[in-house]
Amino acid sequence: MDLRITEIFLSIQGESSHAGRPCSFVRLTGCPMRCVWCDSEYTFTGGERISFEEIFAKLDEFDCLLVEVTGGEPLAQKNVFPFIADLCDRGYEVLIETGGYVSTEAVDPRAKIILDVKCPGSGEAERNHWPNFERLRPDMDEVKFVVADLVDWEFAKEIIAKYDLVNRCKEIMISPVHGIDMRPIAEAVSRSGLKIRLNLQMHKYIWGADVHGV
Ligand code: SF4
Repeated sequence: MDLRITEIFLSIQGESSHAGRPCSFVRLTGCPMRCVWCDSEYTFTGGERISFEEIFAKLDEFDCLLVEVTGGEPLAQKNVFPFIADLCDRGYEVLIETGGYVSTEAVDPRAKIILDVKCPGSGEAERNHWPNFERLRPDMDEVKFVVADLVDWEFAKEIIAKYDLVNRCKEIMISPVHGIDMRPIAEAVSRSGLKIRLNLQMHKYIWGADVHGV
């Protein structure tokens, strides 16, 4: 079996509660969404079909036990589900960064889900697959809201309350779109009284916002 892959690389995990940890990334090609602030448009097309065995060989070279499967939208390729199970069988700690449009139902339960919720500023909020929230596990999974402005912040607060996310997942991250004035969002988070976390994309501060594959 194989997957269409944009890049495989070793870096530092830039986001989530795992930020700062060494992490291998397997970035799959393709995404059915078109978020207006997307920073991964280079994954929409192209890529190369790579066999599971070749991917595993590359990951072996990296010698890093944490692996993130990302995209694009990683769950849009059906072969990703056996791939995730094989990664887990090999003893990797597996993170799945998904845009929240595709069902997480078939993801191996040993993998940890980082579920994006699309806010109005993305232009894709009506495509959130809400049943994914029912599968969140409080000890493993994380939810991320990328917010472009305070309208998105208000939306995030509504969804957090409506779905009781504080009790449903391990972390709730509020991630300002890179490049905006983050201070209003940071101040809103600090005053919220909620068990949430401001999430900055560490890798963009280290290598620059337009650099990928590092
Ligand atoms: S889901 Fe992710 S990869 Fe797809 S368009 Fe939105 S930000 Fe880009």
